[in-house]
Formats: sequence, C-alpha cells, structure tokens
Amino acid sequence: MTTTWDQLKGHDEQRELFRRSLQRGRLSHAYVLAGPEGIGKRQFARLLAQSVFCRNHELTELQVCGDCRACRSFHANTWPDYIEVGVPAGKTAIPIAAIAGEDGKRGREGLCYELSMAPQASDRRVAVINDAGLLNTESANALLKTLEEPPAHSLILLVCDNPDTLLPTIRSRCQVVRFFPLSQPDVQQILLTQEIVESEAEAASIATLCEGSLETARQLLSPELRKLKTSVSAQLEQMEGMKPLKVAATVVGGIEEMSSSTAEQRQNAQWLLRFVADAIQQRLRALAKGDLSDAMTKRLGVRNGLDLLSPMLERTIAASRQIDGSSPVRLVMEAFFDEVARMFRQAAKR
Ligand SMILES: [Zn+2]
Repeated sequence: MTTTWDQLKGHDEQRELFRRSLQRGRLSHAYVLAGPEGIGKRQFARLLAQSVFCRNHELTELQVCGDCRACRSFHANTWPDYIEVGVPAGKTAIPIAAIAGEDGKRGREGLCYELSMAPQASDRRVAVINDAGLLNTESANALLKTLEEPPAHSLILLVCDNPDTLLPTIRSRCQVVRFFPLSQPDVQQILLTQEIVESEAEAASIATLCEGSLETARQLLSPELRKLKTSVSAQLEQMEGMKPLKVAATVVGGIEEMSSSTAEQRQNAQWLLRFVADAIQQRLRALAKGDLSDAMTKRLGVRNGLDLLSPMLERTIAASRQIDGSSPVRLVMEAFFDEVARMFRQAAKR
C-alpha cells in the first residue's frame, strides 16, 4: 500500500494543482478525480486526505510524514474525520445506505451525515467516493444535497474513470481534475518494486502493452491468458503448417473458460490480439535492423518478412476493431486465423 507521496508514481501536475489551491486558500469543497482505471487515482485521493490530517506538515505543503498520530491512525483506518465509500463486495452500485444511511436510520448515518458533523481530531472532514460513476440514482440524489450546500469543513473527492458517467448535476458542482496514464518507465518500476512480475524483461514487455494502466497490466499477466498466448505463438511459429480453425477453437475455448461475461470475453480477446500485434511488431523491428536471429524471421528472410508481416499487423488491428464493434469473438477469430494462414501459404510460395 502506498504510504507516502514518494511511492506514488506520476501525477505531479495534479498534486501541484492541489498545492497551489491550498496556498491560495482556494480549495473547493468537491473534486472529481477522473482518468483511466489502474493509474493510482484512489491512492492519490487517500494521500490527499492524509496530507490534510498529517500533524507534522502544514496543510499548504500537501505532504505526509507517515509517522504522526494522524498518519498512523489514517493507515489503521481509524482516523475519525475520514470517510471512504465504494461499491460493496458482490454489489454493482454504491447503495443509498453508504451515502445517507440504512433504512430507518436515513439521514442519521452514512457519508453525508458524517460530513455534516464537526471534525473530531482535525480541521476538516474528508470523504472519498470510489467508483463514483456507480452511484445509483437514489445515492446520487442524496449526495447532491450535500454538494449543493457543503459543510464549511468538508472536502469530498469523487474518484471515477469517466466524469460523463456522473449525473450532470453532480459534475457541475465539482471541479474535475483529469489524471493520465502512467509513463512506461513508471509502470515498469511499479511492476518490479511491487513484485508483480519476476524479471526486468517481463516488466518491460508488459509496460509497453498496458497503456499506462496497472489494472490492464494485471489482466495481461493473468496465468490463463499467458498460457493461451504461448499456445497461439507456438501455432503461429508453424507458419504455413498452422491449422487456422484449430487455433481459433483453442483461442475461443480458452477465452470462454477464463471469462465470466461477454464483455470480459471481448476484453480477453483484445488482450490476446494485443500480444499477437506486439509479437509481429517485434519481428518487424528486428527485420528493419536486418536482424534474423528469430526463427520465424530467419525462415522468411528480410524482403519476404516485411511483405508478410506488415499486412498481418494490419489484419490484427482490423480484428481488434471488429471486436470493439461487437462482432462475435468466435467469428472474428476464425476469420482472422484463416486469413493469417492464407498469408503464410502465399509467402511460402514466393
Ligand atoms: Zn503525519
């Protein structure tokens, strides 16, 4: 778990924006922290809250010591002026109970009630709402009342992927702060320091593919997906001997097994195509340098390799678009591998 700002990668500009607002005494009561999943917005929100409470730093420094009573209590989740809510396990939305209290205790517990109370141990009360795009209508309306008349001592941070998923009435009462994907070196370092990968080479390869999101990196690293990737690579290595329908069946079967919904199947199909595209790109780069050390590129030779691999890459991107456009995964994969096999056969004739 991130305990200090030093451990948070990226987002320096966003931190500076909050620091400047604090120095000018212009901190708003409510912010939306918006940006892709898996880049550290939630950690940022927690650090921001902790900085408000830390006893060893002035508020305007936006800094945490990690050691004072406030910092330690914050980490033990016992600091009385901090409230964090999100989607409960097994649920798909943030229930009204989290925002305005259980039935029968409505308005006498929950996030809005706690925010309305005077701070107990510091100058402010801070609330973080994770996955704020998943507030249901009832919860959103309850929150809206607090946003319309925020208590003077309150700071509310709504964390979400896409601010367009919030009710316009909520969004218009918050300042939206955009967050951007992590840089490749940052992802690489996090993957290594958090021991999510075992080697530098693996960290580098996943960092190029995950588009600055640790969430995507974790999905790409799922053992089932990697197993599938290895089996597809082995089939592709056989080139003109590849059996397109067999590969498609393996791919679709594997994807269905590891996914619990159609949306997840599409996502996994996309990750697999991304691995294929990356393998093609690596070979193209090697060929451009005249490097024939890889078995496939060696067999193809430079000229033949370029003639084959460029259209193959285009075909991979096209398949990925078809899946985005909600074509059935099985049909896309069958057509894709069939065409790749045809490309191999033609290349072998040349
Ligand atoms: Zn502290």
